[in-house]
Amino acid sequence: MLIVNKIIIAIDGYSACGKSTTAKNVAKALHYVHVDTGAMYRGVALYLLRKGIPVDRETPELFAALDEIHLEFDLNPDGASSDLILNGENVEQEIRTLTVSNVVSEVAAMKPVREKLVLLQHQIGKKKGIVMDGRDIGTVVFPHADLKIFMSATLEKRVERRQLQLSRSGISQSDKEIRDNIRHRDHIDTTRQESPLRRAADALELDTTDKTIDQQVQFVVEHAMRIINENVVTNA
Ligand code: C5P
Repeated sequence: MLIVNKIIIAIDGYSACGKSTTAKNVAKALHYVHVDTGAMYRGVALYLLRKGIPVDRETPELFAALDEIHLEFDLNPDGASSDLILNGENVEQEIRTLTVSNVVSEVAAMKPVREKLVLLQHQIGKKKGIVMDGRDIGTVVFPHADLKIFMSATLEKRVERRQLQLSRSGISQSDKEIRDNIRHRDHIDTTRQESPLRRAADALELDTTDKTIDQQVQFVVEHAMRIINENVVTNA
């Protein structure tokens, strides 16, 4: 009998270079589960904004809020993408707005926030068979992930893609607003003290500037299949 072991695929990289779309499609191709960890940080940011709690300081209100926040993912009928559920409410649309994007990196830089979410990510990843995307998946969350990918693209390409993605969701934003937000998040994500965005030494680089989503997905799936095939165990 052949035993096919499931693997963990970690995808990290800069904002808006196609990580989540690629991860979702890779998960679909492999019948794995996609976990968008950026959505989790966005969920915490939304909760703090709604409650009027400072988004950049470790206050007693922040600790109380972290105890109150319950996050889960609701799998969509396509079997690959999922919506973020914050305390029972579907907030998938709201977490993508510029209001949330403008503060999420400050929220994600706080140690107690990261501790809570990394714990949750470990629990989700226990079963393997996952494609998790974020900023610290290959370095901190799953440093022993079977396959690590580090994605990048030029700033202009990223602005263009984010613009398209937002307009599809009916959100209108100028190129300047999007560019400023991406730059701001890149800066905080790469310079923060807690788990800064870094390429893990054993991550494969994927520059998506001139690649289609299909090409990106193919790149990851091919590497994943190679590793999965190496791990096939024959149990006579
Ligand atoms: O992936 P997305 O752009 O939605 O992530 C939103 C923000 O959440 C990032 O800009 C980053 O500040 C934070 N983040 C993080 N660690 C992760 C995922 C996201 O710090 N693993």
